[in-house]
Amino acid sequence: MKQTLLSLLVLFNCLSVFAASRRGEVQVQPAFWWSGMEEQTLQIMLHGPGVGQSEVNVAAPGIAIDSIHRPANTNYLFIYLNLRGAAPQKFDIELRQGRRVQRVAYELRQRDHSVKAQGFDASDVLYLLMPDRFVNGNKDNDVVKGLREQTSGQEPDARHGGDLAGMTLALDYLADLGVTAVWPTPLQVNDMPSHSYHGYAITDYYQIDPRYGSNEDYCNFVRAAHEKGIKVVQDMVFNHCGSENFLFRDLPDSTWFNNRSVYKQTAYRIAAVGDSHAVEADADNAQNGWFVSVMPDLNQRNPHVLRYLIQNSLWWIEYAGIDGIRQDTYPYADRRAMAQWNEAVLREYPRFNIVGETWINHNVGVSFWQKNSPVAPADNNSQLPTVMDFPLMGLLNSCLDEPTNDWDKGLARIYEYLSQDIVYADPSRLLTFLSNHDTDRFARNEAQANQPHRYRQALTLLLTLRGIPQLYYGDELAMAGNKSKGDGALRMNFPGGFEGDKVNALTGENLPPLMRETHDFTRRLLRWRKGNEVIARGTLRHFAINQGVYVYARQLGGRTVTVILNGNDRPECLQLGRYAEVLPAAEATDVLTGRRIDLSQDCLQLGVRETLVLEF
Ligand code: CA
Repeated sequence: MKQTLLSLLVLFNCLSVFAASRRGEVQVQPAFWWSGMEEQTLQIMLHGPGVGQSEVNVAAPGIAIDSIHRPANTNYLFIYLNLRGAAPQKFDIELRQGRRVQRVAYELRQRDHSVKAQGFDASDVLYLLMPDRFVNGNKDNDVVKGLREQTSGQEPDARHGGDLAGMTLALDYLADLGVTAVWPTPLQVNDMPSHSYHGYAITDYYQIDPRYGSNEDYCNFVRAAHEKGIKVVQDMVFNHCGSENFLFRDLPDSTWFNNRSVYKQTAYRIAAVGDSHAVEADADNAQNGWFVSVMPDLNQRNPHVLRYLIQNSLWWIEYAGIDGIRQDTYPYADRRAMAQWNEAVLREYPRFNIVGETWINHNVGVSFWQKNSPVAPADNNSQLPTVMDFPLMGLLNSCLDEPTNDWDKGLARIYEYLSQDIVYADPSRLLTFLSNHDTDRFARNEAQANQPHRYRQALTLLLTLRGIPQLYYGDELAMAGNKSKGDGALRMNFPGGFEGDKVNALTGENLPPLMRETHDFTRRLLRWRKGNEVIARGTLRHFAINQGVYVYARQLGGRTVTVILNGNDRPECLQLGRYAEVLPAAEATDVLTGRRIDLSQDCLQLGVRETLVLEF
């Protein structure tokens, strides 16, 4: 031991200034890797003063240097190793500058076979939450020394203190509610001077924000979720990063960010990317303009950038065991590069799923971004399995506020929209939702929250139509929020997550009746849906609207679930004759109430805006 210490000391001395003072400063990403991955090449990024001027040597069995990339900034070195057949091992990367030698320790780990990369599909229900606003399980990490934002409070744009400890505490609540996957907004560090709580300005892609916990805490959270049958979908942001990210502060070269790494605003006109009439300037501005000035726009066309991002995804999947990815502002990134990213992730983890944020309000536009889209050029396939059904969100938020007619009002608009599903390559893989952290909540105000039929119909549609449903935290508690009052109004604290909360949804203490009823209705439907193969894989067949009532059925292997929604603000007696093919018995159970429903009469009496989910 003594001798080892002594030789280490001697080594340190020999390394002179370069090594002695810089050793601790060389940043290595990824910090480690694994043996036996499908992809045989590994990019190792070294970042430290003058590191790019080093000669590189790696002497390790089964490992060869494929190539070395030295960008203009000599503080970077990108080493590409060929790992074909390399066993798990520790080895040194030797950096030589004249007589000065520095050794950077590296490790290829053994892959473990714990539960990971399960993917998610229509049998799942995702629960979107914002960690800072969900549950504060550890008050000691609300403010962390050394980070740029040094306050915590209750202001809309401030850090509120929620964290991974709180998310872990809430897993029992989520499992009881009946969701099968959780999607937290990004957990990676946002060391920005302000507005760091939302997580979309990442300053180190390999580091969990210490205000949420450590990388290890994240792994433990994923493991704990898996033990309760809940998958984890990680929010990733490859279009842009925070301007305090070292990759921007100390640019490898000017090609790492779009517009030669100089701020140029995007006009957000992403429809131009798929528009056959669009002028090139608009399409170029959409993808190469920056989202905002403090979020530099990464250039995924630079192969070194793309490799860095691909590996970051693979690293989190393998390291933390996540099951899926939600990719932020998807159409703003380079389409062809992101297609390569999808292919690389799915080649490594075939069961995995990825959803891109495709915020476009019509089905042609959303379809354009889904893998194998019939409306996209065959030679420009996005390869993205799941896209977001923003048009359906818009309809669910407006159709229920108007009486239904047989053509173009109320539920007729949902019928009309779904009748166009042929535009989608795979409607069953659309992510469907009532709201998210960037939109009005489903209840835009207290008056809407107090119309129980509105939520009951919307949630029933969400959980029984095609697609992969996603809930937004608090919607199950009838929380109201309106974007006109700022983003903070959409991201209020979860009741019971913070010290001093009188109402506690986690324990059920002091829940007002509306919250309790909304929660219990949500829970009932979620628990019924969980494991229900008819809903997950069954066909969807719907009837044209008649008498202001929308009727559709999910069917699989002789089993039928029939949904009946009265879109009228008056009772209606529904003539049953035309629905015979989805009413296979004279009696059925209404899943929402447990009541037996007699279907033997000519007409079925429906209450004002009544909803029935009939199981035969
Ligand atoms: Ca905290």
